[in-house]
Amino acid sequence: MIQLVTPLIVDNFESVEKNISDAAKKAGRNPDSIRLIVVSKQASSEKVLAAYQAGARCFGENKAQEAVTKIDEVNLPDVSWHFIGHLQTNKVKYLDSRFDLIHSVDSLSLAKKISTFCEGQNRTQAVLLQVNISGEEAKFGMTPSELKKQLSNFGQLKGIRVQGLMTIPPQDPEPENSRKYFLKLRELRDTCQALKVEGIELNDLSMGMTSDYKIAVEEGATLVRVGSAIFGSRS
Ligand SMILES: *Cc1c(COP(=O)(O)O)cnc(C)c1O
Repeated sequence: MIQLVTPLIVDNFESVEKNISDAAKKAGRNPDSIRLIVVSKQASSEKVLAAYQAGARCFGENKAQEAVTKIDEVNLPDVSWHFIGHLQTNKVKYLDSRFDLIHSVDSLSLAKKISTFCEGQNRTQAVLLQVNISGEEAKFGMTPSELKKQLSNFGQLKGIRVQGLMTIPPQDPEPENSRKYFLKLRELRDTCQALKVEGIELNDLSMGMTSDYKIAVEEGATLVRVGSAIFGSRS
């Protein structure tokens, strides 16, 4: 069975990498400055292993308990796991040192919970702050003005280290329509960086999914989160 899925996943992974590299060159960026997060939510451990064999070294999951089970099952030492989903405060306890980066910190109260938890474990968790850049009602994330207002509070939390911003633009069949939101996130990052807030370094921009990662790379993404282009569509 693994023979059936492997070649396809390998091909898909390689073409996504090539597209990232091409988009970077087109924008005059170094392709090495962009990291592909292979979104393995709902993908079996076999599929994760196939992507690993293709060269994937960074995976993204959106459900805490499922992620922990999968991480332990595949048990790959040289892989980095990122958490990309909305996090309820009662699930923070699952996000231990298995996770290198949490992309989806969408409120100060969540950040405080994570910080307290990590201080108890004597470690500092790298996180990104999620911004609702489009202002859609049903989206998680802080508004740009909330973010600016609270930045120094995030910077004071000892158990986390804020290293960038993340956003999810509105779903749209036309990838070009995402461009303005990616541009806005980059501009917001630049504005916040210029405030020189203690404890805050916003180097990463996590933006771009299967439909629009090429555009995101052109607009400055350092982390792209791609699932279905590699594993096929989720049911
Ligand atoms: C599922 C998911 C992705 C990947 O989506 P695809 O369209 O399958 O590439 C990226 N980011 C987040 C936050 C997700 O939940």
